Amino acid sequence: MRQKRVLVTGAAGFLGSHLCDRFIAEGCYVIGMDNLITGDLKNLEHLFSNKNFEFYHHDVSKFVFVPGELDYIMHFASPASPIDYLKIPIQTLKVSSLGTHNLLGLARVKNARILVASTSEVYGDPTVHPQTEEYWGNVNPIGPRGVYDEAKRFMEAITMAYQTYHGLETRIVRIFNTYGPRMRLNDGRVLPAFIGQALRGEDLTIFGDGSQTRSFCYVDDLVEGIYRLLMSSHVGPVNIGNPQEITIKDFAEEIIKLTGTNQKVIYHPLPQDDPKQRQPDITLARQILGWEPKVDRAEGLKRTYAYFKSLPTEELYKKEHREFEKK
Ligand code: UDP
Repeated sequence: MRQKRVLVTGAAGFLGSHLCDRFIAEGCYVIGMDNLITGDLKNLEHLFSNKNFEFYHHDVSKFVFVPGELDYIMHFASPASPIDYLKIPIQTLKVSSLGTHNLLGLARVKNARILVASTSEVYGDPTVHPQTEEYWGNVNPIGPRGVYDEAKRFMEAITMAYQTYHGLETRIVRIFNTYGPRMRLNDGRVLPAFIGQALRGEDLTIFGDGSQTRSFCYVDDLVEGIYRLLMSSHVGPVNIGNPQEITIKDFAEEIIKLTGTNQKVIYHPLPQDDPKQRQPDITLARQILGWEPKVDRAEGLKRTYAYFKSLPTEELYKKEHREFEKK
C-alpha cells in the first residue's frame, strides 16, 4: 500500500506540530505548512531531519500549491488566542475564509479528505450549557472576537457546502480550550499567562471576578479525538474537549499550588464578550468515535509545567517582537 500523504496547515503551531508528530508516528509522509505569524519553527525542529517530513513556508490565504498526491488535509492554521485576534484581525479573518476556500479547492483536485479545525467559539457566549453540536451559538459578529468566531463559522459553512455540492470528503472538529507543551508562553491565554507569571514571580492576573468557567483538555487527548474523527465517516461538526469544568479563580489556585509560588492573584477588567461559561457536551464523540479524554487536569498540568520550566529563561521574558502586516 502507498504511504499516506498528509498536509498539515499551521504545522509550526501548538496543535499543528502535535498533529505532525501523530501522523509521522502513524507512518505517513507529512507536509507541514505555516506562515510563521504565530507559529514557531522550534515546534518542528525535531522533524526537520525526518525523511517523512517537509516544510513549506507559506500563507494559505494565498493560492496553495503542493506537488504530488495528498490523502488528507488538516487545516489548523489560524491565530488562536484573543490577544492575537486583536493584533491581527484581518489575517485571522482571511486564514479561515480565503484559506479554507483554497484548501477545499486543493482537496478537490487531489481527491483528498479534509478536516478543518473549528472551535467552541462558534457558540460565542453560550446560553445553552453544556454546549451540544445542535446549539447555534450566541456570537457578536462585530465584537473583538468576531473576526475569529465568524471566520470559523464561515469555515464550517463553506466546508459543508463543498461536502453537499461537490461530494468532497470533509470533517469538522469543534475544539474546546486545549493545553500542553508547545503553547506559546506569551500568547495571552490563561494557562501560559498564569504559569509564566508564577515562574517570573509576578502576581496572577484574573480577568473579571474569576467566576467565568472553562474546561481544559490535554493536547494528547485532543489529538487522539481528532485522529479518530478523521478516520470516521461523520461529516457534521463534533465537539472534542474535556468536560471537566472549572472557574478561572479556582484554576488560578491550582496553578499557585502546582508551581508553589508565593504570589497572589490580582484582578483586571474582563475583556469584552468574554464567554461566561464553557463546557463541551461530548456525547456525540463518545458515541461515534468511542473517544473520551484520559488525562486529568492534575496530570496534564504537571506535564505542561515541566515543559514551561524546561524552556530557557530568556523565553520567560520575551515580548512579542514580530511586526504584523496590516492587511
Ligand atoms: N484570563 C484571565 N487571566 C489571564 C488570561 C485570561 O483571567 O491572564 C481569562 C479570560 O478572561 C477567560 C479565560 O481566562 O475568561 C480563558 O481565556 P483564554 O484567553 O485562555 O481563552 P478563551 O477561552 O477566552 O478563548
